[in-house]
Amino acid sequence: MLLTTHENPDGDALGSLTAMHWILQQIGKDSVMYMSPEEFPLSHEYRHMTLEGLLGAPPEDIDERTVVFLDCGNIDRMPVDFLQRDGIRILNIDHHHDNTRFGTVNLVVPQASCTAEIVFDLAHELGAEVTPPIADALYVGLVTDTGKFMYENTTPAAHRMAAELIEAGVDTHAVYRRLFEELPFRRLQLLSRALQSVARYEDGAITLATLGRGDFEATGALESDSEGVVDHLRTVGETKVAVLVRELLSDEKRGCSKVSMRSTDGQVDVSRIARTLGGGGHRQAAGLTTDLAHDELVATLRQQVAEQLNA
Ligand code: 5GP
Ligand code: MN
Repeated sequence: MLLTTHENPDGDALGSLTAMHWILQQIGKDSVMYMSPEEFPLSHEYRHMTLEGLLGAPPEDIDERTVVFLDCGNIDRMPVDFLQRDGIRILNIDHHHDNTRFGTVNLVVPQASCTAEIVFDLAHELGAEVTPPIADALYVGLVTDTGKFMYENTTPAAHRMAAELIEAGVDTHAVYRRLFEELPFRRLQLLSRALQSVARYEDGAITLATLGRGDFEATGALESDSEGVVDHLRTVGETKVAVLVRELLSDEKRGCSKVSMRSTDGQVDVSRIARTLGGGGHRQAAGLTTDLAHDELVATLRQQVAEQLNA
C-alpha cells in the first residue's frame, strides 16, 4: 500500500497518515507513505511529527500498490500526476461530508470528528495495538480538528477516544505545548498584522482579515505561519463567518489567494460558499484558492453569507 493525504497537510492529515502507516506495518502489511517534497517545511506546529521513511517520489512498484488517501475530500487536493492516473486502486478514508467518493473503495464517515477517529476505529477492528506513537499521532488529529474539543464535531465518541489515547500514553499537555505554544515570534507578528487589517461586513456577520505578500515579507513569516489566524477572528461577537484571505507567495500561484472560512454558530454552511468558488470542506470549516480580485471576492462572500442568513 501507499498512503498519502492532501496538500498543505494539517494535524489530522499528518496524524491519520502516520498512525495508519504504523498500524498497517504492525499487522504485517507493506506500507509506505508519500508526500510531495513541496509540502516541506511543514507548518511549525507539526515539526515533531515523525515521517520517517516518507517517500517524495513514486516507488517503482507503485502499480502493485493500493493507494490509501487519508483526510482528502477530493482527489484534486493532491495535485500529483502519478496519483491521478486511470486504473489506480484507491482506498479513500475520510470524514468530509462533501467527499467526492473518488476511491475504488470509500470509507467516508462524516460523523467522525476527524479522520484520526476513523483510523482509531480501524485499529480496533484490525486488532492492532494503539502504541504510544500511534496514540500521539491520533491525538494530534483529534485535538486539531475539534479545535481542542470546542467545535460542534466534538462528540462523546471524540472524548472516549481521547480517554483511550491518554490511557495509551499521550501526554496531553506536552502535545498542547508542541501544537499551540513554542511558536516562532514571527507568527505573533503576522497575527498582529492580520488583526490590524480586520474588516467587518453585514452588520458584523463577517469578520475578515487580509494578509498580503508585504505582511509576510515584513515579518519573515512563511505561508504556514498563517495557520490559526482565522481562529482569532471568530472570537468577535456577532460573527457568523470568520474569514482569512491571504495572498499566495509562490510564482505559479501569483495573483491567487487562499481563503479560510469558519462558521461560528452553524447558521452559515461555509462549505457551500467554498464549493461555489471551487473549494470545499466542512460546514463549519472550509477553504478555497481563487484568482478573484480582493474586492470581487469580498463582494461574493458578502452576497453568499447574506443569502444564507436571509434564507
Ligand atoms: P483551512 O482553512 O484550515 O485551510 O481548511 C479548512 C478545511 O477546509 C480543511 O479541513 C478542508 O476540509 C477544507 N479546505 C481548505 N482548502 C480547501 C481547498 O482548496 N479545496 C477543498 N476542497 N477543501 C479545502
Ligand atoms: Mn480532517
